[in-house]
Amino acid sequence: MNSATQIGRLTEPEAPDAELDLAGSAPDPLTIGRRVRHVRQEAGRTLGDVADAIGISPSALSLIETGKREPRLSVLAALAKVLDASVQDFLSSAPPSRRAALEIRLEKAQRQESYEALGLPKVKVGPRLPDEALEALVGMHEAMASAQADSAATPEHARRANGELRERMRAADNYFGDIEAEAATLLKAINHPGGPISRAAVDRLAGHLGYKLIHTSDLPGSTRSVSDLRNKRIYLPQPEAGQHDSRSLAMQAVGHHVLGHRPPADYSEFLSQRVEINYFAAALLMPEKDTVALLRTAKQDKDIAIEDLRDAYAVSYETAAHRFTNLATRHLGIPVHFMRISQEGVIYKAYENDGIVFPSDATGAIEGQRVCRQWTARRVFDQPDLTQAYQAYTDTRSGTYWCTAVVDRTSAGSFSVNVGVPYQHVKWMRGRDTQERSVSRCPDPACCTAPPQPLAGRWDGQAWPSARVHSHLLAAMPPGVFPGVDDTEIYAFLDKHAPTD
Ligand SMILES: [Zn+2]
Repeated sequence: MNSATQIGRLTEPEAPDAELDLAGSAPDPLTIGRRVRHVRQEAGRTLGDVADAIGISPSALSLIETGKREPRLSVLAALAKVLDASVQDFLSSAPPSRRAALEIRLEKAQRQESYEALGLPKVKVGPRLPDEALEALVGMHEAMASAQADSAATPEHARRANGELRERMRAADNYFGDIEAEAATLLKAINHPGGPISRAAVDRLAGHLGYKLIHTSDLPGSTRSVSDLRNKRIYLPQPEAGQHDSRSLAMQAVGHHVLGHRPPADYSEFLSQRVEINYFAAALLMPEKDTVALLRTAKQDKDIAIEDLRDAYAVSYETAAHRFTNLATRHLGIPVHFMRISQEGVIYKAYENDGIVFPSDATGAIEGQRVCRQWTARRVFDQPDLTQAYQAYTDTRSGTYWCTAVVDRTSAGSFSVNVGVPYQHVKWMRGRDTQERSVSRCPDPACCTAPPQPLAGRWDGQAWPSARVHSHLLAAMPPGVFPGVDDTEIYAFLDKHAPTD
């Protein structure tokens, strides 16, 4: 839209001057007003004098000059004539002077909703405002805006935060000794005898920390649990049949308090806290000492299997697989990789310290990328029996890996959970005798991304799919200290459930 049609549409439906071609960047009323005032002052004319000359009231001209009213083109033409200027002089999008440019920036900053939300007074932008003060205010507004933009979790920020976190986990071999120690201390305090943690043990654990666990069916939809810090209660969803382990949710909620978490300052801290509470819950469900003993014996027998961990501790395959990655490198000297991908091959979660090269975008982010069709994590979906773990060797550009994968069916679709080790470490793993083998030549497009001939020959240029957007991966992160959580909803929930005394 050019300036002429814009102004015509807003203030003058009949638009007699619309034939004026004013293409280019459309100036806003504020800039136009500043330019009018600048030209008038340069000409040494008063507001009243000029208003009289073009037949409008001084207050109307003042509204135009302060950008509060969009001038008609006919008014601009009249002004141009009286001030011996051209309409183009007013419609240029460049501010007439540095001072005017600063005034425009301050006006705009003070009109931002984010500034209004602060409830602070607006500084009157006029000739009495000293240059220095103007300069300082504009500088502060713009610094504040860029700080806000930095902490807002755009997909770009989320990707970067994920990348940094993965880097930290890899540097630590995905093992966090301080969290292991917290978990061990707690288990000792409730005299846990070892083995799986029962619901009753989880209650005792929370009780030891002064918290009461309450299951409720009306937990706010944007949350997995809510803690009432005043009354020391933790609200959890009702455990439903087939649902994920409610013990995990309880221990994750407890984890925030044990690990001394503060409200996250930004998205990256939010993510770190998520990783820490997941780790903490896993360290309670599968205590380090016992789990490592079990794994060491299995290693001696050259018979390590994720299934055995899963069954010994009554956890999901994914929890067992994840826990294996925590302990395998530190205690068994085995580098590993872990992946959770959708049936379409899209990475949701991944970790490696064994050199496998995940597909990544230009920023180095891997979430949302698609892994090679030849990888075990994808081939598992083609297996006739999806209830069984599937094992295979894959030659990749970074070496040969052996992987074991299972399919996890959820209400959000099917996912595969995959754990793998480099070829030289497969001797410790059960399932290494598999005959399944594949070759991945990705990122060579001829591997699996480019359609094969003659299929491509028949359909190239003749297909137009309408894509389903992966909104969960690509949309901006929801706002808020706890992303996407509505404070009003949480406070109302706590009010409703708080003990009356
Ligand atoms: Zn491929």
